[in-house]
Parts: sequence; structure tokens; C-alpha cells
Amino acid sequence: MGENLNVRSVRFVTSAVQASDYPDLAGMPEIAVAGRSNVGKSSLINGLVNRRQLARVSNTPGRTQLLNFFVVNEHFGLCDLPGYGFAAVPGKVKAGWGRMIETYLTSRTSLRALLLLIDVRREPGQWETDLVHWCSVQGHSVVPVVTKVDKLNRARRGLAVENIAKTLGFLPRKVIAWSTLSGEGMEPLWQAVMRQVGPPPGSVEAELPSPAGPAPEGGPPSEP
Ligand code: GDP
Repeated sequence: MGENLNVRSVRFVTSAVQASDYPDLAGMPEIAVAGRSNVGKSSLINGLVNRRQLARVSNTPGRTQLLNFFVVNEHFGLCDLPGYGFAAVPGKVKAGWGRMIETYLTSRTSLRALLLLIDVRREPGQWETDLVHWCSVQGHSVVPVVTKVDKLNRARRGLAVENIAKTLGFLPRKVIAWSTLSGEGMEPLWQAVMRQVGPPPGSVEAELPSPAGPAPEGGPPSEP
């Protein structure tokens, strides 16, 4: 997979369970990543931030059930949420996962958007639709990302994306198609993340007036 040239730095901050253990990232906006076990979450995070084994932290035994926080470019936080649905996990632990994610979504005020990963070969289930619902209640954006698109041919993949979008209540064009193998999806995903977190403070973009901002009083500015 190609490099994401937009990434200059990334660091692991901490793992947490309870809200009181979440790191204070000094007001940085945050993006969270969620998906079922084996959806390709670690591969996507590693690809997005150009690190071979960054998200391995979250795949080592004992850390799979924690929230793992990273900082990218000293600009935004990235929270790797625990993967859902690993068969070997007992029901009690599964319920704990749900609570942990719900607590995160309801209490993390710096959260800007959830990247929700769905395997292109699966139908989204109750868990995914619940996550979309929680996010909409909390006013968080959801960016649907369909993973492993290299597994299907163009026609089947198109149908799968349409179906996944419909089940989750999104327009198909809002869904980002991702493949760690081909590198497809990197630029659209990065752009989606940038739209959610906004430009870094002090950057040229941050200083420019927003094109979507309110019109100045008295109507549009006159020509000089
Ligand atoms: P996680 O459990 O969600 O963190 O998933 P991993 O990133 O560990 O990936 C699970 C499996 O799917 C591994 O065997 C990966 O090599 C494979 N995988 C991940 N992304 C892709 C992809 O884009 N295409 C294909 N074909 N396989 C992938």
C-alpha cells in the first residue's frame, strides 16, 4: 500500500477503559474507529498513519478490550475502539464492550466523527445500526468505510456498497471504499477525516475565512 504523505507524526498516548482515564489532548479534535473483529481495523489504522504495527498495540492480548488513543500530526486524536463480536469472548465481556463504547460516544466531547468499518462481504448487523443511532443522538458524524473491497469484482462490490449504505441510512456516494491491499480509499478517507477535524490551528487554511461561513453583515463585500 502507498504511503500517506499527509502524515508527519503519530504517537500512542494511552489505553483506557473508564472516561476518567481518557487522555486530555488539550482540545484537539478526535476521530474514533470502530468495527467488528477482523474487519481490517488494525490494517486501516496502520495504513492511514503509515505505521506497520501501530495498531498492533490494540491487538496484543489484554489490550483488545481497551480504547487506545493516538495523536496524529499533533493535530487530532485517533481513538481505536475495541473490536466487536470476537466469538471467543463471553457474553458478560461483550456487554462491557457495549457500555465502554457507549460511554465513550456519550462523554467524549472532543469527538468529531466515528469511522465505522464494514467488511464489503457482510451485511451490517444490529451492532452497526445501533452505533449509527447512538452517534446521531449525540450529534456525531459517522463516516461509513467499506473494507476489503479488493475481495469482490466491480459489479458485486457496487451492489454490496449500495446495500450497506441503504441498511445504515447513507447515500452510496457517502461510503468510502477501502482496500489495504491496493491502497484504494486512502485519499478520500484522509480528506473525510480532514473535513471532520478542520485545519490545524495556525495553518494557512485556518486563517482563511471559511467559504461556508456566514455572509458579512450588509451583504456580500463590494469589489475593491
Ligand atoms: P482487525 O481485527 O479488524 O484489526 O483486522 P486486521 O487488520 O487484523 O485484519 C484482519 C484480516 O483481514 C487480516 O488477515 C488482514 O490481512 C486482512 N485484511 C485487512 N484488510 C484487508 C484488505 O483491505 N483486503 C484484504 N483482502 N484483506 C485484508
